[in-house]
Amino acid sequence: MAAENHKLDNFETFYNVIDNELTTTPTTRHAINPSTNEPLPEVPVSSQDDVERAVAAATAAFPAWSSLSQDERAAYLGRFADALDANQEGFAKLLGEEAGKTVQGVGLELFFTGTQIRGTAKHRLTEELVEETDERTVTIRHQPLGVGVGIIPWNFPILLGIIKLSSALLAGNTFIWKPSPFTPNTALKVGELAAKIFPGGVVNVLSGDESLGPLLTAHPGVAKVSFTGSVATGKKVMQACAATLKRVTLELGGNDAAIIYPDVDLATVVPKIGTFAFIHTGQVCMAVKRIYVHEDIYDAFLAALASFVQTTLQPGPNTDPAALLGPLQNSMQFAKVQDLYAQIDKQGWRAVPPPAATPAPPPPPQPQTGFFLPPTLIDNPPDDARVVAEEQFGPIVPLLKWRDEDDVVRRANASRMGLGGSVWSADAARAERTARRLEAGTVWVNTHFELGPQAAFGGHKESGLGVESGLGGLKGWCNSQAVWVRK
Ligand code: NAD
Repeated sequence: MAAENHKLDNFETFYNVIDNELTTTPTTRHAINPSTNEPLPEVPVSSQDDVERAVAAATAAFPAWSSLSQDERAAYLGRFADALDANQEGFAKLLGEEAGKTVQGVGLELFFTGTQIRGTAKHRLTEELVEETDERTVTIRHQPLGVGVGIIPWNFPILLGIIKLSSALLAGNTFIWKPSPFTPNTALKVGELAAKIFPGGVVNVLSGDESLGPLLTAHPGVAKVSFTGSVATGKKVMQACAATLKRVTLELGGNDAAIIYPDVDLATVVPKIGTFAFIHTGQVCMAVKRIYVHEDIYDAFLAALASFVQTTLQPGPNTDPAALLGPLQNSMQFAKVQDLYAQIDKQGWRAVPPPAATPAPPPPPQPQTGFFLPPTLIDNPPDDARVVAEEQFGPIVPLLKWRDEDDVVRRANASRMGLGGSVWSADAARAERTARRLEAGTVWVNTHFELGPQAAFGGHKESGLGVESGLGGLKGWCNSQAVWVRK
């Protein structure tokens, strides 16, 4: 069917999607537009009964879906990606409103959504013949698990669900998507669109309040939970899944270090570091969260980055095409990050630019009531300062001075987290040697933030367990089976 036939009727009414039926619940709730503090449209509040129906539908759909070939399932995913493209305009507006993303941020998330589905659909699980003799063959194959659950945070409400869904479905699983209560609207519309493409029960989406996640992690009919969110919640998810020994993938927080050598070209590197640190207002698991600059260029780097922050990162709501820095996504995150700003005076940190010098938000339209905070650099605070040791997840980022290579690697690795890290130098070979010493699931040289469906992504240490994306992510949605055949 042509993609035009998959246009959604509207982006104003929101339903759970269970067995390709749109249903609502006796009680509804709404999220808040973080740029304006205004309510977004009402969404369902799912109960145990909705969970039972979704798990039953996904269980019933599993035999037929898993018996399709990978090529057939990949073709469904391709049609799904086309259908998302056909609804770009509606998703772009809603994502901007819901997540507080700038026009640029919305474009980035939707672009990665398409490439993720299409790139994942190219992977194939193959059987591995690990021994073949006159007496026997030994083969390893990968079988889908059954009903998968994806629990999603609020910072990339579409993309992070799509990463899980694409691999889960291609491997032959059926799927229940649980969005964050802070950003449920786009996911429900993705589900509505999926209902036009996939057989009933293959993709289900349930919105709810904070009680919904635990109902899903406890359910004995769920074979796997793939969770993206904070370290603290990830530990609870793993604990809950232990009761039924569900498979678990955890994509958790990060505190990525960027190490800058003195030979970098400031004009090239500073805007990149500024972008990767303040992208989506710092609310990205793999944003640059600690910037280690060699002492020889520290002052010049700080001055150039401060200038970038002041002149380029124009704050504003999703409706302002010139805005490059949106609001914090929700009141809870706003309060957490605001508390870090409150430490500036209390701890004697030097903020650059100083708080009073922060440029006023641009008129019009004015971000009058949204969760806005000014982009701020903290000049060389101690290593044990909260702004260094904790994942700040907001537009306040420390710059730290280094002299000795071994010492800066030790400091970068002195974190319970290990999601990503980058090293920047004109000598890429030297930078790569240093990058390979970082304790992180993804390391970059002269870049940061680059990801794709070709590579597995996951955290070391408390940044996660397992990987998603790439062939590794696909295998994470499978049981391995060894087949020993005596001839
Ligand atoms: P969060 O942990 O508060 O919530 C994430 C999801 O878990 C939400 O859908 C929430 O409703 C649900 N949830 C809450 N309690 C639950 C429970 N007991 N059982 C099951 N589900 C439960 O995280 P957040 O504030 O939404 O997201 C921000 C965090 O996510 C940051 O730490 C960030 O670094 C991390 N993150 C990690 C990645 C990654 O790929 N590693 C990507 C994006 C965000």
